[in-house]
Amino acid sequence: MGDDATGQETSATAARSGEADPSLPGRRPAEDRYPFFSAIQGYLEQAARIVELPEYVETILGQPKNELIVNFPVRMDDGEFRLFKGYRIQHSNILGPYKGGMRYHELASLDDLKALASLMTYKCALMNLPLGGAKGGIKFNPRDVSRGELQRITRKFFHALGSNIGPDYDIAAPDMGTNAQVMAWAMDTFMNTVGMVKKEAALGVVTGKPITSGGTHGRVKATGQGVVHCICEWAERERFDLHGKGLIVQGFGNVGSHVAVLLSELGVSLVAVGDHTGYLYNPEGFNTHRLQQYVDGNGSIEGYSNGEPISREDFWGVDADICVPAALENQIGQQEAKALRVRLLVEGANGPCAPEGEAVLQERGIEILPDLIANAGGVTVSYYEWVQNRRSEKWTASEVDDRLRRAMHDAYEQMEEFAHHNKCDFRLACYGVALERLMAVFAEREIFP
Ligand code: NAD
Repeated sequence: MGDDATGQETSATAARSGEADPSLPGRRPAEDRYPFFSAIQGYLEQAARIVELPEYVETILGQPKNELIVNFPVRMDDGEFRLFKGYRIQHSNILGPYKGGMRYHELASLDDLKALASLMTYKCALMNLPLGGAKGGIKFNPRDVSRGELQRITRKFFHALGSNIGPDYDIAAPDMGTNAQVMAWAMDTFMNTVGMVKKEAALGVVTGKPITSGGTHGRVKATGQGVVHCICEWAERERFDLHGKGLIVQGFGNVGSHVAVLLSELGVSLVAVGDHTGYLYNPEGFNTHRLQQYVDGNGSIEGYSNGEPISREDFWGVDADICVPAALENQIGQQEAKALRVRLLVEGANGPCAPEGEAVLQERGIEILPDLIANAGGVTVSYYEWVQNRRSEKWTASEVDDRLRRAMHDAYEQMEEFAHHNKCDFRLACYGVALERLMAVFAEREIFP
């Protein structure tokens, strides 16, 4: 584990800790890691120029408001204690309570979480949600622990965060390595620490809960569904018939698997797929429902017989129409961007394209639907869950679906209009729309005291 307790971890130390870990086959070499947070600061700077953002607002948004690190001991199944390092980065709450996922991953680093928390601020602003931006997590591999250990780690983490989170202050959600079950433990822990009077009001401290524990219909597939709405918006404008087109997806977890399943219902064929265990190719197209069921039981695509194993390098060069990276940041550098043989790249993951990879894609005329809009379906439906919790309501699945479709449509239109008007790409347009909203609030409220 990298020693980042001082909050001074750099991308270089993150790279070193990644390099030392042999359990992740087929990652981009550590020396190719780009400093994710600096890249986000770079986008902020470029978009700030377009919207003429006052310098003080850019300075404030350039850093998170709070960076929390907690170290907490957990008793493991063998009776020994192990110390875990947890993070919560609260970037901005000017538009509403901090909001963002919790990531359990062996490479979770302060630099990446600062980037991811900043992205949440801009994503919520772009989607016009009354929420701010945060991100957190624990640096460990959840696949290496038992279910009981996972529960104790989660409970100790949320207990250690204490009143630094809360339904009116900072609301967590699932991200890589976490799911509805983890959110249920988190909520239960928080509820049991706030006292009896406020117990029910504490439901909204996390979203992405199981439906029976206060979750909403549509949250599990929400991020994938949002990706698909974006693809449909793009296809409609480009007069691009999705039926019969080929798809490649990196990462077959919550986001990637739902994208593949929902697109297959529109006639798009998944021809190559990869995860942390390797990559598979099937020119006839995978049965996405069956693959999803297999991964639910097996934990990965490893051993799935209906595809030919290929290398990570070959995966990026598979002939297809749409590529959806839905795993980690920093997956598409120059080499991957040169290899891609698709027309559209849709960022299901946060930050999958390194800036130099993005430059190659632009040169080659491969369109990018950026993370800020493409994967915003998750936080949008999380917001719907939070609203239902506050109002003690239960919305139907079709109500949630309709609202999400309209929200994605509106955001897409605003992004497109901004890009057209300012002659910029979609990524900067997303930042631009978000910054215009943030800037207006900073101007009205000014700086305390
Ligand atoms: P997940 O844990 O459900 O799935 C992650 C997938 O990525 C798994 O299939 C895993 O095997 C794969 N993976 C991990 N390391 C890999 C590697 N080195 N090479 C190839 N594949 C690898 O996570 P998720 O919730 O689907 O999140 C995926 C991405 O989407 C993340 O960037 C996350 O921040 C983003 N995202 C998720 C949500 C959400 O609601 N879950 C919302 C917005 C954005």
